[in-house]
Amino acid sequence: MKKGFIHSHESFGTVDGPGIRYVVFTQGCPLRCKYCHNCDTWKKEDAKFLETPEQTFLEICRYKNFIKTGGVTVTGGDPLTQPEYVKELLKLCKEEGIHTAIDTSGYLFNDKVKEALEYADLVLLDIKSIDPVQYKELTGVELEPTLKFANYLKEIGKPMWVRHVVVPGITDNDELLEKLADYLKDFDNLEKVEVLPYHSLGEYKWQKIGLEYPLKGIEQLSPERFENAKNIFKSRGLSVK
Ligand code: SF4
Repeated sequence: MKKGFIHSHESFGTVDGPGIRYVVFTQGCPLRCKYCHNCDTWKKEDAKFLETPEQTFLEICRYKNFIKTGGVTVTGGDPLTQPEYVKELLKLCKEEGIHTAIDTSGYLFNDKVKEALEYADLVLLDIKSIDPVQYKELTGVELEPTLKFANYLKEIGKPMWVRHVVVPGITDNDELLEKLADYLKDFDNLEKVEVLPYHSLGEYKWQKIGLEYPLKGIEQLSPERFENAKNIFKSRGLSVK
């Protein structure tokens, strides 16, 4: 079986899906988000190690009792750069009755991705901006594939949480937040919106790999603006985490 390119594992994750989760950070991402706090996961060839889905699964099994109320999440990077590995890993988890989640930007979409999605109980879909121009500026890629991906999840009724980072001076914009909230309110497979306040905790990683942090000087989101963003989604009847 094809080996996965892995950055790291986390055995006690509490922020990537419901409950306590075993989190697998895969290596490789087609996006270049300006606020990325995992920029060390961008290049596949920088993987810390390679392992088969069976090897990852054996490691997960050591923590089975801890993740009983949660499950397993594959994140990155973008795990869907390696759909075959993800599919096999999630399949093994499902056979053991473990809840599975994929955290993705939704940029990659093909038959292999569709097969991997079959074994996911939940998709955490990161929508970085609802404005195509801003999305491209922020991530380096087009928004359209992500919206197509979201529509596919809706079509197949796949439970979905949408994650959205609110960045002062960029996505902290009432008009854009309202536009995203309006777009999402028609998704009957949407269980939750996770509004994430911008912080620059990953800045040191950019320095470590010799890159200049593009959002230097941007302050973290204030509690007031964080509340404001959450209230916009709530006002559309959406459940906000
Ligand atoms: S999608 Fe995630 S890992 Fe990829 S660049 Fe954006 S924030 Fe970083």
